[in-house]
Amino acid sequence: MKVIVTGGAGFIGSNLVRLLLERGHEVLNIDALTYAGNIHSLDGLADSPAYRFLHADVRDSSLMSRTLREYGPDWVMHLAAESHVDRSIDDPGNFMTTNVMGTFSLLQAALEYYRSLEGEKKERFLFHHISTDEVYGTLRPGEPAFTEATPYAPNSPYSASKASSDHFVRAYHETYGLPTLITNCSNNYGPKQHPEKLIPKIISNALEGKNIPIYGDGKNVRDWLYVLDHCKAVDLIFHRGKAGETYNIGGHNEKNNLEIVDAICSILDREVPAADGKSYKELIVFVKDRPGHDKRYAIDATKLTTELGWKADENFASGIVKTVEWYLGKLNKKAA
Ligand code: NAD
Repeated sequence: MKVIVTGGAGFIGSNLVRLLLERGHEVLNIDALTYAGNIHSLDGLADSPAYRFLHADVRDSSLMSRTLREYGPDWVMHLAAESHVDRSIDDPGNFMTTNVMGTFSLLQAALEYYRSLEGEKKERFLFHHISTDEVYGTLRPGEPAFTEATPYAPNSPYSASKASSDHFVRAYHETYGLPTLITNCSNNYGPKQHPEKLIPKIISNALEGKNIPIYGDGKNVRDWLYVLDHCKAVDLIFHRGKAGETYNIGGHNEKNNLEIVDAICSILDREVPAADGKSYKELIVFVKDRPGHDKRYAIDATKLTTELGWKADENFASGIVKTVEWYLGKLNKKAA
């Protein structure tokens, strides 16, 4: 298949681009290379005849239309977004323009392109919007996990912008018949994540002997999924999912932030003991909580597992060891 991936220089996008190429697809990666994009995450791909890179902004609607027309994709996988909740609190404007207007501009381009297609190419076409479980808001302890039927209740400017873009994608399917898929995934972790995010930040602060800041009481719970399991789920849903549907993706790995720091520090204590003999856990400091901080997210991925047979390859214990080893340079830097 010819696939356009937006945001392919980001954390999930760069892992997805490599997976798609390994599985024999052709990929055009469209990325604006914001502070979050890292072109080195794609090192080694430039020579591949199946891979092309377009340095462009998804908000540029005429360029998006021209690119779809000229490249002629079978699938569009839309990941480009502003993705950091803290930044959305400090400066929400880019979240509105990239996440909402950028998605709108791609939907317009995709619809125009889809209408120009005929025959098998038209039947194959899919627009896949990669979204987050954060659109569902927050859960109390013991409340059932989010299903695809959970009402949207976003609490941060980030999740509000993703929720809005999800609604536009749904509307383009219902109103114009554009074949769309939406996936709402839980928190990802793994190689190539931006250092501002929780897990890379814990690892780098520990290795530099800096304090490890934890919001509030450290009891906020997230449902963690190894990034390659997310990418494999996206590929499976493209092959076997039904247009117009939403699928939740998650690995049943609910952990609070203290458990995450604890797991990482234990691996680091074993792999790279600190010179002073102290545990890295001694670097943990509790800091003022994030405003509107959602207490708990949990994904019910029953639909994906029963309808499409998906299962995560990694559990948290195996995935976090791989992740720490990657940041320590023990795993091939290009591989995930
Ligand atoms: P990321 O911040 O690591 O990467 C985002 C990429 O998008 C970067 O390469 C950046 O340069 C690019 N980008 C930003 N604005 C752009 C624009 N206007 N035009 C073109 N490119 C632009 O994000 P990520 O963590 O890889 O997340 C990717 C997608 O998956 C996002 O849509 C996010 O909402 C979603 N998601 C992320 C997680 C997670 O835990 N990271 C979980 C569920 C869903």
